Amino acid sequence: MKVMKFGGSSIGTPERVKYVNDIIKEAANNNVNVAVVLSAFGNSTDQLVEMSRIAGLGKIQYKELLGNFIEVHSQFISNLIEQNQTSVSQTVSRSFEELKDILHGIFLVRELSARTLDFVMSFGERLSCFIVSESLKDGIKKIHFLDTRNIIKTDENFGAAGVNFKLSNHNLNKYFKSHSGLCIITGFIGSTENSETTTLGRGGSDYTASIVAAALNAEEIEIWTDVDGVMTADPKKVPKAFSIEYLTYEEAMEMSHFGANVIHPPTMQPALNEKIPIIIRNTFNKGFAGTIISEKNTPGTYLIKSVTSIPEVALFRVQGSGMIGVTGTAMRVFGTLAREGINIILITQVSSEHSICFAVAPNVSVRAKKIIEEEFTLEIKTNQIDSPIVEKNLAVIAVVGENMRETPGISGCLFQALGKNGINVITIAQGSSELNISVVVPKQDETKALNAIHDSFFLSETRSINLFVIGAGLVGSTLLKQLNDHYQFLKKERQIEIKLVALTNTRKNVFNVNGIPIEDWQKYLDDSEDDANLNLFINKMIA
Ligand code: ADP
Ligand code: ASP
Ligand code: MG
Repeated sequence: MKVMKFGGSSIGTPERVKYVNDIIKEAANNNVNVAVVLSAFGNSTDQLVEMSRIAGLGKIQYKELLGNFIEVHSQFISNLIEQNQTSVSQTVSRSFEELKDILHGIFLVRELSARTLDFVMSFGERLSCFIVSESLKDGIKKIHFLDTRNIIKTDENFGAAGVNFKLSNHNLNKYFKSHSGLCIITGFIGSTENSETTTLGRGGSDYTASIVAAALNAEEIEIWTDVDGVMTADPKKVPKAFSIEYLTYEEAMEMSHFGANVIHPPTMQPALNEKIPIIIRNTFNKGFAGTIISEKNTPGTYLIKSVTSIPEVALFRVQGSGMIGVTGTAMRVFGTLAREGINIILITQVSSEHSICFAVAPNVSVRAKKIIEEEFTLEIKTNQIDSPIVEKNLAVIAVVGENMRETPGISGCLFQALGKNGINVITIAQGSSELNISVVVPKQDETKALNAIHDSFFLSETRSINLFVIGAGLVGSTLLKQLNDHYQFLKKERQIEIKLVALTNTRKNVFNVNGIPIEDWQKYLDDSEDDANLNLFINKMIA
């Protein structure tokens, strides 16, 4: 058996769903025993979260978002369902009524609990899976829509519920024994022992696919998304990123924890337990093999596999003379945070024991500061420990790869790339498994750091110099001519690639992160539709 999962990006429009349906039909009609897990359509989960938030503030504007949500889903029905349109619309209308009622309730009481939010979010996957399963009926004979709330059992940690594997595996096996044919399964959702709806954490449909595959002892899990597999960096931030052929479960886990949202972090665990390979593929480039995540360590040619980032963290420094030589301070810091369910992204401590530094998500930083101050009230009062210092507007950049183990020079290469580009490193952490080195840098330097590190590990032969030219008069144009004349020489003989990123004169701006051909700068500037604006130019240049 094979479990296929399609993410929201693969089913963002009815046209995209048709594409996905072809892939599903091809597999199902080729006698491959498949089960399909789906996310909500496009960014509907974000919309459900937003309308709940607005309703919770007692603002009637939530109705606009709800109206749009209903309209979009109705369009999916009218575009995808031919035969049973009326009965499908009727069933879906009942869900819309239920959703309207619950949002009205949130609006009236002005309160949005994690429990209620999970229930609201569940409409995304319930609707998408129902509609897609109905749309597949004219190509596939035996098809079932499986609402996993009846099957995947969890604890009551609403928002990121823990799975009861024993019960869920039992339920899954029982269900699949009595349902032959193709199952379209809701990702992301489950329910408690008392049948209250829960979710497995944002992006959790990948996890559902892995849970189902492990329970049914599937041969493989295919995660279909909108990029060519797992790449050396997020292609939205690093244009030169390229696909990785093989990853180990550990590498994938480390990457996903450090911001590569192409795969949801807990997904690897059930697959790893049963040694089921996970293949990440591109719905819109289905001929491409993608990335295989398995036990096999295939070193590849580079020192690292990937560079990832968490765009925003809050960095805490707990310090004070009273910490030196005193045992148990770290235990108290991390113990209090753990009791409050606050996740720590990275930790560093220097051997002087004078300070402990750790990063958390910005949305929990106020709570984290408060509970540490409570824990150390006495020490703070007697000046043994200072009140925690919290720095915001920071990002974490991580380089990941099994090759890093026992390979000297990785840190050197990393810090040289950052230093050369004038990026200040605020703190550093390296896991003892040597699978990951993480650095904390100013948030505004995130993209620059990613690109600089990516260049130096993956394209080490040539160094890119990003050129921004202000003024294209006699001096500017002569400089550009000289650079154009020397372009090949610099590239071949000096391993320097000049990339003209932006150009402005008194009339126009032209900007392209991927580079403007130097020989044609005049044409690009003339054709540009952006009027000259020096402030905007400078801000874009800094970004
Ligand atoms: P889906 O809707 O299929 O679940 P996601 O948006 O959750 O898709 O994940 C896919 C996105 O992950 C890509 O569009 C890409 O921008 C982002 N991403 C981040 N890091 C990486 C990486 N290293 N390789 C590939 N994609 C990445
Ligand atoms: N729809 C859910 C989300 O947006 C789950 C997923 O897409 O994996 O978080
Ligand atoms: Mg995803």
